[in-house]
Amino acid sequence: MKSCIGIDLGGTKISGILVSPELEVIAEIKTSTEIGGQNGAIDCVKSVIDQLCRENAVTPNHILGIGIGVAGHVDSEEGRVVYCPNIPIENFDLGPLLQKEYGFEVFIENDANAAAVGEKHFGLAGQNRNFVCVTLGTGIGAGIFIDGKIYRGSTGGAGELGHMILDFSTDAPVCGCGNRGCFEALASGIAIARSAKKVFSREEITAFDVAKMAQEGNEAALRILAAAGNIIGIGFANIVNLFNPEKIIVTGSLVENEDLILKPASETMVQRAFSTNAKAVEVIKSNLGNRAGVLGAAALVIQERAHLPCV
Ligand SMILES: [Zn+2]
Repeated sequence: MKSCIGIDLGGTKISGILVSPELEVIAEIKTSTEIGGQNGAIDCVKSVIDQLCRENAVTPNHILGIGIGVAGHVDSEEGRVVYCPNIPIENFDLGPLLQKEYGFEVFIENDANAAAVGEKHFGLAGQNRNFVCVTLGTGIGAGIFIDGKIYRGSTGGAGELGHMILDFSTDAPVCGCGNRGCFEALASGIAIARSAKKVFSREEITAFDVAKMAQEGNEAALRILAAAGNIIGIGFANIVNLFNPEKIIVTGSLVENEDLILKPASETMVQRAFSTNAKAVEVIKSNLGNRAGVLGAAALVIQERAHLPCV
């Protein structure tokens, strides 16, 4: 019986999964990577494929296909990685290269889109045809499903939710993308850490530390998270008004503390979104932890091979 491989390629971590055609998980591996240059990144992907095959006594001709979620801008049609802020691969046809080397079909997808596919096949999206999967972590991203299909935009760049501009003042915080006032610059893990550094006059403080302090009842930490939650709610209100989704499924390290971030965010969304759209949407925490991307990458093989709209 043939199986599928899913890979989630991030800036510091790479995970791989082997699943049956019925999407039962057979094996899973996760490694931290120190990627040195483009060849190093490609070697990391290959070593995950090789390890999954070797450890599970599967030969590449028993693989139906492989899906790879990449943290960056990809061209899914060409199997090309266009640009990644944190992975040293640029304008490279990763799909065709792996296809030539291993002989199986390769599907490349943006990691947030892959996570949305994961929610569709393994998570809470189920029968939903219109939903948005939002990643709240160090950065902010989104995978959008419209009428049962991933929405990629004209060149694969849709869903850059984190770079929606929410503060247009000229001294708004600078974002990693170079712009000012992006959602990600105001309410991501990085933004929370930046506020905390000012409030607590400590250089080495992370969003994780702030969440921990908030859980212990620290008032200032609670205020920082409530402020971030409020901005996240504004972001959600914009999503709800633009796409009228049935669900916003939220994943990423910032939702570990559901009550501290997601609850105020949902409250703000209800207050600020168009009321009929707000009533139609459910904001929920993903039940896939950080596995939505890798699971979705594997499911991509089945979904894209069948050329089926995801119903
Ligand atoms: Zn930005």
